[in-house]
Amino acid sequence: DDDHEEGEEYLFKIVIIGDSAVGKSNLLSRYTRNEFNMHSKATIGVEFLTQSLDIDGKEVKAQIWDTAGQERFRAVTSAYYRGAVGALIVYDISRRTTFESVGRWLDEINTHSDTTVARMLVGNKCDLDDVRDVSVEEGKTLAEAERLFFMETSALDSTNVKKAFEMVILEIYNNVS
Ligand code: GDP
Ligand code: MG
Repeated sequence: DDDHEEGEEYLFKIVIIGDSAVGKSNLLSRYTRNEFNMHSKATIGVEFLTQSLDIDGKEVKAQIWDTAGQERFRAVTSAYYRGAVGALIVYDISRRTTFESVGRWLDEINTHSDTTVARMLVGNKCDLDDVRDVSVEEGKTLAEAERLFFMETSALDSTNVKKAFEMVILEIYNNVS
């Protein structure tokens, strides 16, 4: 709209949430650095990483926040969510309990945000199809019921990682421009 002139920057805060070990940190490192870590806890060591992209000739900066493992203790603070306009809610397709937690993570976002949040349900580790514990249909059905975008991803082989982040970023852009 008129508030944003040509050449102006947009800055969007996006949070990644979901149970421990679903692949949140690796999704972020794959998207921003094209890196994957099989063994470590993949602690990024910073609160967020920034990825810039161009939409309609405007510079859009996505400031993507990763937890430092506090989700293990259900202790993600309100500061983490503050100002977020996008969220990736991640589960692991090979671990059903992580899918069953999605509702709780959605409650968390709703509790902590007072604005429209572009939300994408992400079924990560789709490379583990042979030990799949949640069907694609179940993911889709939940996403439709909760009005979320949905995508299965693999931080390991890169499937849909860029697509998932950029779909959220584009939706935020469409919400504000
Ligand atoms: P976080 O706790 O949600 O941040 O999860 P991490 O990113 O630390 O990943 C937890 C474990 O899952 C690590 O051993 C990763 O190597 C592994 N992992 C993450 N993403 C994938 C994936 O897409 N496929 C597979 N097979 N393993 C993954
Ligand atoms: Mg992590």
